[in-house]
Amino acid sequence: MARHKGRGWNGRLLAAALGVTVVAAATSMWTAQADITGGRQPQARVSAPDARPVAVDIAHASDRGARGVNITIDDGPDPDWTPQVLQLLKDSGVKATFCMVGTQAQAHPDLVKAVVADGHRLCNHTVSHDTTMDTRSEAYQSQQILDAERMITKASGGVRSQYYRAPGGAFTPYSRQLAASRGMRPLGWNVDTKDFEHPGVDTMVATVKREIANGPTVLFHDAGGDRSQTLAALRQILPWLKEQGYSFGFPVR
Ligand SMILES: [Zn+2]
Repeated sequence: MARHKGRGWNGRLLAAALGVTVVAAATSMWTAQADITGGRQPQARVSAPDARPVAVDIAHASDRGARGVNITIDDGPDPDWTPQVLQLLKDSGVKATFCMVGTQAQAHPDLVKAVVADGHRLCNHTVSHDTTMDTRSEAYQSQQILDAERMITKASGGVRSQYYRAPGGAFTPYSRQLAASRGMRPLGWNVDTKDFEHPGVDTMVATVKREIANGPTVLFHDAGGDRSQTLAALRQILPWLKEQGYSFGFPVR
């Protein structure tokens, strides 16, 4: 995931507008935890288990072990491309991890629910995809992570993000700790298909074949532009990985 410059997410203004919700999000965390014993809000209780703290270091491994592969799909959901990615994954019998941008999730809750309904996992990719997160204040990082958490969980109907992936990999010790404390394992990647740069299907396929030995977590995108190359590459890569004896899993938490 290169640090996409000039991405054109219109998230900045919205993020500023949402800044006031940080306190509300933090409050709801404690409400949810209290509900484990109080039981006043069944909906919060359902989503509470995933909120238990997880490790703070950046995960790359697969829960399928040494021959596992984690397909990760970033920056959506997107009304043009996410349904096509979902159909392809369904046809291939592959589960993936979707790192969603908060504003996208908020705009397309039906797609967030469709991702969850198909058995995929959610990952928090911040409110507005700011790849300079690691140069910003802790208050800003907190707002980006907690507001996105709230937006994604609301859009999904209560299913929480199990991971946190900083845009462009711009993690900080603070952001990793904050995410982990709320049950979102920091998530890295091993193989960058660079699909965002439209390198061509053959190049993307070759990249995965060459680099999958480096580690199991592969990065694709389902938003931010024409993703037809991504779809075409996935159509080749998924069967190839199966032929090589890989199975598809989720990043460890
Ligand atoms: Zn991204």
